Amino acid sequence: MASCFVLKYHHSSFFLVAFMTLVQLRYGTIGPLCIRPRWPARQVCIDSLTLQKLLRVQVALPDRICLIVTRGYEPATAALGAARTVFRKLGVFVFSVLYCHRRKEIADIFGTNGHDIDGMHIDVSIQLEGCRIRLLPLGVFTPLWLQRRRRKKFAPILYAVQAELRREGFTLHRNRTERAQMHCDLRLPSDVASSGTR
Ligand SMILES: [Zn+2]
Repeated sequence: MASCFVLKYHHSSFFLVAFMTLVQLRYGTIGPLCIRPRWPARQVCIDSLTLQKLLRVQVALPDRICLIVTRGYEPATAALGAARTVFRKLGVFVFSVLYCHRRKEIADIFGTNGHDIDGMHIDVSIQLEGCRIRLLPLGVFTPLWLQRRRRKKFAPILYAVQAELRREGFTLHRNRTERAQMHCDLRLPSDVASSGTR
């Protein structure tokens, strides 16, 4: 585990808010949390406060449920960010062909969703009794009927995990496919206050 400092700017008013500590996590475990970087990434880079909150979520969950962290901060200028951009373009093309009636979702599903901004935008997954729950067996191309079936099968576990994430200040993505990918944004009290005044 390695860490570094970056400057964090407020999204809307562009003034310096605080130093943010990024923690680089390699494949393995951090306490009870599993780290599984999503290909082609070799590590997950997240904000240290976000990591602390994820650990609190994990502690609050039953032992048979384990959170897996798969994606965090990925600067657009890095090789990984460039690779993601290429994948996104290919993905948008395939998605448009397969699901032309769902084009309104493309921005939500294929946007960077904050992963290029800081380490407070993360993707997690769930492991139940040692087996990873695949809510999207075909990735973002999983048809909605299959997503519904997977969600229904694991509904009590999903509700439990999502409730604990919300309790620690995470918000889940508004799009159902991104939510199945468990994209979460950590909302600090200052973010909530400023969004409430806009
Ligand atoms: Zn995400």
